[in-house]
Amino acid sequence: MLRIGQIKIPYRDGDSKIYTTLLKKLHIQEQEMLSWRIYKKSIDARKKHEIMSVYTVDVRLKHENAFLKRNRNKNIQKIEYKAYEFPKAGEGLLKHPIVITGSGPAGLFCALMLARYGYRPILLERGMDVERRQDVVGRFWETGEFQPDTNVQFGEGGAGTFSDGKLNTLVKDPFGRHRKVLELFVEFGAEPEILYVNKPHIGTDVLCHIVKAMREEIIALGGKVCFESKLTDIRTEKGRLTSVCVNDHSWIDCECLVLAVGHSARDTFQMLKERGLPMTAKSFAIGVRIEHPQEMINQSQYGMDRDDILGSAAYKLTYTASNGRGVYTFCMCPGGYVVNASSEEGGCVVNGMSYHGRDSGNANSAVIVTVTPEDFPSDDVMAGVEFQRFWEQRAYTEGKGRIPVQLYGDFCESRVSQDFGEVRPVHKGATTFADLNRCLPTYVCESLKEAIEAFGDKIQGYDRKDAILSGVETRTSSPIRMERDGELQSEIRGIYPCGEGAGYAGGITSAAMDGLRIAEAIRKVYRPMDESY
Ligand code: FAD
Repeated sequence: MLRIGQIKIPYRDGDSKIYTTLLKKLHIQEQEMLSWRIYKKSIDARKKHEIMSVYTVDVRLKHENAFLKRNRNKNIQKIEYKAYEFPKAGEGLLKHPIVITGSGPAGLFCALMLARYGYRPILLERGMDVERRQDVVGRFWETGEFQPDTNVQFGEGGAGTFSDGKLNTLVKDPFGRHRKVLELFVEFGAEPEILYVNKPHIGTDVLCHIVKAMREEIIALGGKVCFESKLTDIRTEKGRLTSVCVNDHSWIDCECLVLAVGHSARDTFQMLKERGLPMTAKSFAIGVRIEHPQEMINQSQYGMDRDDILGSAAYKLTYTASNGRGVYTFCMCPGGYVVNASSEEGGCVVNGMSYHGRDSGNANSAVIVTVTPEDFPSDDVMAGVEFQRFWEQRAYTEGKGRIPVQLYGDFCESRVSQDFGEVRPVHKGATTFADLNRCLPTYVCESLKEAIEAFGDKIQGYDRKDAILSGVETRTSSPIRMERDGELQSEIRGIYPCGEGAGYAGGITSAAMDGLRIAEAIRKVYRPMDESY
């Protein structure tokens, strides 16, 4: 197979012209081409009057070696396509079903793969199924009625269910897991173009259907999916897991547990700490979410307002503050909503979400500052959690239970805003004006002010006085890491830490990839369950 790069086509001509452009570029007749598929597609908008789609295409030709001899070109490479392979089963015998805790992308993809290979896992999820969860979360945003185990962080589909559904990842992947995850998303209902576009995105509306379809397959294959079922304790014997407790009363015998509990399962982290699971505190980042008119971002990135083909434009910005801290935009949601993403009573957390159409009218993004264990109040493994909780509670108090918001100009002057400017907020959850300087450490606020001003040099208007800030964005990645060895197990044998909460992923796709990785590790040790179980 040959990989052909740098095929540039005016973006308006879309994918329809690739085939003819390819034949022309390669100087071949149609009968020479056996098959082709788009491997990557990105947009080159550096020249605003001449925006191009840039393709990399994989082709099979009848006479590839002869073709390569004729065409020596750095944009033409011979490649060996390596499909994802699930390993052969080990010989270990399972006495009890594998228990997977958490139905976020990590747990769900792990459960799906194991179910497809005959393991019939039990998937425990503390929150509700996605249908009921949508109602509960909708009610929370409308009335403030909060449920501790079913919210934006907890429930079927995990933290990504009410998200923008961005599927890009920076994880290097020689094993084909990335492609496999995207293929599974397509199999369960995502558009096939996520397989090759540079910044694939699904949207919360489509994600909810996908999550449900995956659950139905796990059950059809003999797995069990238990909602409102929280892992509350574990028992071990001679360093090996023997059983797990659900909802403080039901013990299940279990020698193989996947911990895919996400970055917000603070009570579970505490329980695991008390049971001696080796964990360490780790760095993460905190800050605010900023909103601008999407039109302003489109103008800056594409030189025009929203276009049906290009959709709403995204951006990514980084800055090093004079105090040495890294500041960066994160989880940018084109055409999205700022959402109240709290998961503890008395705390306020924000994040971003969008529908498939990305058409709210506003662009929002986290702007966050790196914090390390040195910033935390103690050396305890839970010190990062305490640090997050402290600032989330401040935000809750300052916002009187609503999302505290402030215009950027007023944030710089430490003044509570009186009214919105031209930028109108699009939020899910009630808001109130407050001073965000009181909701974050001073070094974070000062870093944010410097960075946002500097970002104004990159995107005109980024530092406009009426840009809206919402606080606080604290759940950017896990505050802890659960140690795992070369077999991906904890020192407590039989426990497999997995996904973002365990510190091995950041985002939907990398969490799902880690879920596959853990399923492979379990497969290498154990045979599938036989019919007698
Ligand atoms: P989670 O998705 O957090 O799943 C953990 C699951 O475990 C939860 O369902 C929880 O209820 C369950 N659980 C926790 N404790 C227990 C217990 N004791 N017993 C049983 N169940 C338990 N990432 C992107 O890549 N793109 C985006 O566009 C994006 N947008 C986001 C928008 C929002 C609003 C949020 C909150 C996050 C967003 N993220 C996004 C981040 C992404 O959702 C996470 O990185 C990803 O979901 C992590 O997957 P995970 O499976 O490791 O953990």
